Amino acid sequence: MTKILMHGDPFLERKCQDVEKVNNKIQDELHLMATVMFKNNGMGLAANQIGLDRNMFVMYNFRKKKIRAYINPVVLYLGTNIVEEEEGCLSMPNYSVIVPRPSKLTVKFTDYRGRNRTTNVSGIYARCIMHELEHLEGKYMLQNLDLESQQKILLEKPWIKTKIWTDIGLLKKV
Ligand SMILES: [Zn+2]
Repeated sequence: MTKILMHGDPFLERKCQDVEKVNNKIQDELHLMATVMFKNNGMGLAANQIGLDRNMFVMYNFRKKKIRAYINPVVLYLGTNIVEEEEGCLSMPNYSVIVPRPSKLTVKFTDYRGRNRTTNVSGIYARCIMHELEHLEGKYMLQNLDLESQQKILLEKPWIKTKIWTDIGLLKKV
């Protein structure tokens, strides 16, 4: 079974490369991402979370009961209304943190069949898309937090402390 990379893994901190063409290989990878996302009860999964250097993610729409692939996504518009909600991440299991996010956005992307699309999203879907876009930029949930909150989370789990503090350059500050 394909493993999800955990926080502290340097691969999660690299920006992903654009997909040049949506071919069978890319579609197979998207299927794999969707499978891993479902098995782990996730709502979204970015390619780099399973070690693929590709600028793409999958998201489950539970109202429509459909998974959509977002390839080379670009945000065209971000709403100015900011909402704070709890958020989780498959690369940081057992934690949820409050992250402020815009409640609406417009995103341009290439879909599973290689078609260019633009869509408006709001609420939990806008939140999920922002979360996945951050992954593709090499960032993840923990880095949205101030230093004190990061320390609080990490101190509860001594086994991750050393590794992640070293990786994100916090070790020398404490
Ligand atoms: Zn995540």
